[in-house]
Amino acid sequence: MSALLAQQRHDQVREVLSQARSNGRGVTGLRRVLRSLEMGEVQVLLMADNYSSHAVECGSCGHLDAHMVRYCPVCGHSTLELEDVCEAIVAVAIRRDVELVYVKDDSEFDYIGGIAALLRFRADQQRGGMAAAS
Ligand SMILES: [Zn+2]
Repeated sequence: MSALLAQQRHDQVREVLSQARSNGRGVTGLRRVLRSLEMGEVQVLLMADNYSSHAVECGSCGHLDAHMVRYCPVCGHSTLELEDVCEAIVAVAIRRDVELVYVKDDSEFDYIGGIAALLRFRADQQRGGMAAAS
């Protein structure tokens, strides 16, 4: 990776973290990132390059959940346990045309859980419809 690209990555991480802190267009942590992914809110997904986490996936609707629930909270179907949620996250990111950025050796990023997302919009703060998003 070039120095310029590394600097851009670094700036992107800072941007997402500051957005998340101000409750703006950023979320951190697996639970919130998964939720935003499913809401179609995510523009850029940032993941530590060594990220790994358990999760469950619904065998019926494909819902991903950071809580190890036996039944899908969305459709009630039984869930499958995933050893590592990364593969499922990457698949969702590709399907939804989300930019995926791997973050390497960033202690502040590791501290917030190693996963975060920059949002196009926040569905829960959307009042004027889609037109306001862009
Ligand atoms: Zn389901």
